Amino acid sequence: DAYLSAIDAANDTLNAYVKVTADKAREMAKASDERLANGAGGALEGIPLGIKDLFGTEGVHTQACSHVLDGFEPRYESTVTANLWADGAVMLGKLNMDEFAMGSSNETSYYGPVKNPWRARESNKDLVPGGSSGGSAAAVSAFLCAGATATDTGGSIRQPAAFTGTVGIKPTYGRCSRWGVVAFASSLDQAGPITRDVRDAAIMLKSMASVDPKDTTSVDRPVPDYESALGQSVRGMKIGIPAEYRMDGMPEEIETLWQKGMAWLRDAGAEIVDITLPHTKYALPAYYIVAPAEASSNLARYDGVRYGLRVPGKDITEMYEKTRAAGFGHEVKRRILIGTYVLSAGYYDAYYLRAQKVRTLIKRDFETVFADGVDAILTPATPSAAFGIADQDMAADPVKMYLNDIFTVTVNMAGLPGIAVPAGLDAQGLPLGLQLIGKPFDEETLFRTAHVLE
Ligand code: GLN
Repeated sequence: DAYLSAIDAANDTLNAYVKVTADKAREMAKASDERLANGAGGALEGIPLGIKDLFGTEGVHTQACSHVLDGFEPRYESTVTANLWADGAVMLGKLNMDEFAMGSSNETSYYGPVKNPWRARESNKDLVPGGSSGGSAAAVSAFLCAGATATDTGGSIRQPAAFTGTVGIKPTYGRCSRWGVVAFASSLDQAGPITRDVRDAAIMLKSMASVDPKDTTSVDRPVPDYESALGQSVRGMKIGIPAEYRMDGMPEEIETLWQKGMAWLRDAGAEIVDITLPHTKYALPAYYIVAPAEASSNLARYDGVRYGLRVPGKDITEMYEKTRAAGFGHEVKRRILIGTYVLSAGYYDAYYLRAQKVRTLIKRDFETVFADGVDAILTPATPSAAFGIADQDMAADPVKMYLNDIFTVTVNMAGLPGIAVPAGLDAQGLPLGLQLIGKPFDEETLFRTAHVLE
């Protein structure tokens, strides 16, 4: 009830929830109380969570914040949300996001932008919460849920976490099942939590992660008790600082934050070492080939026949055309066009295949560094603090918006785990985040190290 009234009071302003499931929440909470009264109960018993609109929730609004999925209520539950409910969690509702998770500011949502609960000290203007999991990050930051599910294809958990002073972890590709989650770029998409601190993230990820016969890319490995990694010493650990992440024109405050992070870890007994990841500069361009290519294929299914919106036409072809023209927003159309182009006959080898080769080189850079004994890599999470809603520069040039992902996409390209942790405020009083990148399936080291930084 406390969370529902907080949502009532703040959601008109923040626009974090696109659907509040108050009745369902009370019903689930009651069932939870009964289980607890009977001495039963799971790891998340009674914990009220918000769910990103990308996760299929049975009988409940699931539209990936797109017009094309109008009215869609799946008859299935995603594996990740089913795992959360099996542990006793309670659903408060569905959270706003960029349309089909394409964006870095939550401004491509059919349901309108989300406002960051944080404001700059001087300008006091409305800021974006980041994207695509902007609703998840804003809701957690404003205490409109105890934690939220999110997804990360190129940074969509870590960048909004950094913009809102929350914690977000993208686990290793394959750690959480993608089954029942609306697909964006299948070889990059991963689910993970956004929470207020590292401990909550550890608890929530344990519940979300599982091997799943319905997702053949999910991995059959025991899920460790991540929480027990917290409080363990980082003494003797080797933390890599990649030279390629020190970019020209990086704001002073981001460099200062990074230095502070290094100092904290050094004080805690870790060894800070310089490393090199030579193919870093190709990660963003290669991502913007691979992700749109996979998206154009995944989004072919929204044809007016099987889901959501249908705009009638004189024949079936015209119906497809009208439905897709009306149903998708600008950014989604841009991705479909790029993706269709790079996959078309004669261009496949030059673009998609080449981007996949670059991806292998990026992955090898990390493998080399880890083979040299580095335990985790420390970088800034984002190149700046949260920016304004309807920022003119970003609106005029999509590439400016894409640059938000500069520190995060490499991690998706390599399939590695990455965590964003709040590490301080800028001169305007806005939160800034640091990122830790780990070895495959070594989320424990990330939790342990992030706990020292928070
Ligand atoms: N901002 C990136 C994009 O627009 C990443 C999005 C995501 O991780 N879902 O593709």
